[in-house]
Amino acid sequence: MRRPLVAGNWKMNGSLESIKSLLDGVKAGMSDVKQAEVAVCAPAIYLPAVQQQLQGSDIAWGGQDVSAEASGAYTGEISTSMLKEFGCKYAIVGHSERRAYHAESDDTVARKYAAARAAGLIPILCVGETLEEREKGITESVVARQMDALINLEGVAALADGVIAYEPVWAIGTGMTASPEQAQEVHAFIRGRVAALDAGVAEGLRILYGGSMKPGNAQELIAKPDIDGGLIGGAALDAGDFLGICTAA
Ligand code: PGA
Repeated sequence: MRRPLVAGNWKMNGSLESIKSLLDGVKAGMSDVKQAEVAVCAPAIYLPAVQQQLQGSDIAWGGQDVSAEASGAYTGEISTSMLKEFGCKYAIVGHSERRAYHAESDDTVARKYAAARAAGLIPILCVGETLEEREKGITESVVARQMDALINLEGVAALADGVIAYEPVWAIGTGMTASPEQAQEVHAFIRGRVAALDAGVAEGLRILYGGSMKPGNAQELIAKPDIDGGLIGGAALDAGDFLGICTAA
């Protein structure tokens, strides 16, 4: 059995004050979360504050991105060892906003995943098609291309130490959630592609859904056989909504 993971992705939101009350709220409700593992991915500058608040709790934390390079002349970047130093367990790589606004290629994302994995972080690899790609009927080939960049670089074994998040770009922050059937179809495709290379890795791989997941739709999404939790943007900024998803998982 795969333990569901619900990970919040705060994106570029919050302040010291709002993060404190958000995490106080989430911590207070954790006793109602029976099954899911819970994590929050914070803006890097707030990671020390998040660590201070969550140390010793059941909630893990992580970065929203990480550099593929170990150190050096990379202005503005955050390394895997920096995330580790502040107790991060997870690092999101290849979020569609990084791909779209920072021109991250499949190759760059695969290298970030590899660096995170080598450092002992659990990478969360985001994949997903745009609306245009879905309408063209190329969803599977886009997702396959994004996965294969990693598999070709590191081998399928790399997925034994990570998580995939399927996030249809058209569903992110739009309120247009994929239907459970639409999401399950792509999740099954992802797991099948991994299974063709290694059945054991496929069986253990957690595949999260992301894109306008809310308390009202989380349960039916996560009930699908290949949906193992969620990567939550907007709804992760409200303690009640986030906990609603965590308890539904
Ligand atoms: P959303 O974002 O839940 O606000 O749609 C999800 C994500 O981008 O990870």
